[in-house]
Amino acid sequence: MGKQLRADKGGRPFVVQPELTEGCSMRFGSGPGGLCSFCGLTAIRTGPGEYKWMSIETAEKLAAECGLFCPQARVEFAMRGEPLMNPKHLEIFRLFRRFMPRTQLMVTTNGDTLRNRMQKAVDTIFDTGLNFILLDTRTIRKIVVMHYARKRMT
Ligand code: SF4
Repeated sequence: MGKQLRADKGGRPFVVQPELTEGCSMRFGSGPGGLCSFCGLTAIRTGPGEYKWMSIETAEKLAAECGLFCPQARVEFAMRGEPLMNPKHLEIFRLFRRFMPRTQLMVTTNGDTLRNRMQKAVDTIFDTGLNFILLDTRTIRKIVVMHYARKRMT
């Protein structure tokens, strides 16, 4: 990997991490109210819930700007909350794929919204153009990290 340049010298980020949701559904962690103790969310929440969501308008603006400024940057949907709790997450994944057709798109999820319909939910997510789902299955009381990947890049 080469030296990282400043933006005004032509440097571009390797990774962008949009926060689709502020707030989480996690109830089995050892942090406050069942959140994960290590999560930055514990600085601003005392338990699950109290969601704030990125809007479609904000996501479209962000995706368009990333598509112009850093079209090869890997996009990781994560941060202080459960991304799949955002009711518009599928639409937002499609937007990023439209504006960034040749980069990797990944979501990190606690799996809460996938339970009991895993295959169908995973297929639906991949059909938006996402390449990776990083699933931490703590929610079913196992600590297993699974990667699902579907080849999308040409
Ligand atoms: S599941 Fe993720 S977002 Fe939710 S509390 Fe744990 S680390 Fe934070």
